[in-house]
Amino acid sequence: MHVPAAGPTARPRRVVSDLPRYSRAAGLNEVRWRASSNESTVPPSPRVQQAIVETAAQAHLYPSLQGDLLVADLSARLQVAPEQIVVGGGSLALLQHTLAAYTGAETEVVHAWRSYEAYPILIGVVGATPVPVALDATHTHDVDAMLAAITWSTQAIIVCNPNNPTGTELPRSEIERLITSVPANVLVLLDEAYQEFATTDIDGLSLVRQYPNVVVFRTFSKAYGLAGLRAGYMIAHPEVADNVRAAAPPFGLSLLAEAGARAAWADTTHTKHIVDVVCDGREYLRREAAKRGLDTPVSGANFVWLPVGSRATELQKACVAHRVSVRAFDGEGVRVTVGDRDAEDAVLAAIDSLQWAATSDTRSLAD
Ligand SMILES: *Cc1c(COP(=O)(O)O)cnc(C)c1O
Repeated sequence: MHVPAAGPTARPRRVVSDLPRYSRAAGLNEVRWRASSNESTVPPSPRVQQAIVETAAQAHLYPSLQGDLLVADLSARLQVAPEQIVVGGGSLALLQHTLAAYTGAETEVVHAWRSYEAYPILIGVVGATPVPVALDATHTHDVDAMLAAITWSTQAIIVCNPNNPTGTELPRSEIERLITSVPANVLVLLDEAYQEFATTDIDGLSLVRQYPNVVVFRTFSKAYGLAGLRAGYMIAHPEVADNVRAAAPPFGLSLLAEAGARAAWADTTHTKHIVDVVCDGREYLRREAAKRGLDTPVSGANFVWLPVGSRATELQKACVAHRVSVRAFDGEGVRVTVGDRDAEDAVLAAIDSLQWAATSDTRSLAD
């Protein structure tokens, strides 16, 4: 295909040209199983598919300005006022709008690292400075270190709970300690994309009720199996919600996404099935990894973190050779999405192929 030879003379903002680019998992096109993007291995239920198909005939019409019908459904079950709910085309988009509304040039946003790779990009785009804070030795958010990273310029702090890619959970007491210790002007953004899979009671909503500077982000992409549809929601104080709506383009939630999300929200049996499949898969993978001398942190998400350190890339290559894509973080570990036993077995076969026998100790694996 023809690509213009001369580049544009228009220059992007400096922060944009310097941004890291989103990465795609290696070998995605050659593999049989995708365990690299934390998608649900279970497709949406027939009821959800039917709702999407039925809505297609109205696709010439704009959706409601703010996804009113989905907001009403969420409000009824979650028992929060509609004014506190913002829906959009994925929770990442909502996080982006929140950062645009509350942060920007000469402000800082504190977040854990390793955590979700989108954070430094979303923060950078709005012109703010990401301030990464290392996880502790158990791969968990280090609340004291995050508090110590706060300066006069800090406008927001992001907590990914359970954390992507390590799956670790932060207890409510620790989150509450963080909320009550930060300066009153700092927004605490709780990314609960994996809340439905958590092993502990993760409930940012009760914190939103108590503290006006707390925002919770949730998604239909994981436990509702709708990653391809793009739907998410956030819960905040009405004033915060209003400012985020103001900062976002209108009609952020498509008509089809609203119909699919509403049907998925109503189909609680199907969501429970997705969660059950994930819980089963992650227990299996963790148990089998342990037999091979590979200790993994308890996961509250739809993936397992293999902390293999400097051997991450090597393990990823072996996984692709066994026809399964995984996400490697060089020098840190490998994240494996669960929910398909054949894919989990392929990952275990890849581990075996690297001769990480059950006799070797974890230290040598993670060196
Ligand atoms: C998958 C994921 C999301 C979901 O993003 P959507 O835009 O709703 O698909 C958000 N945060 C984290 C940490 C995730 O892993």
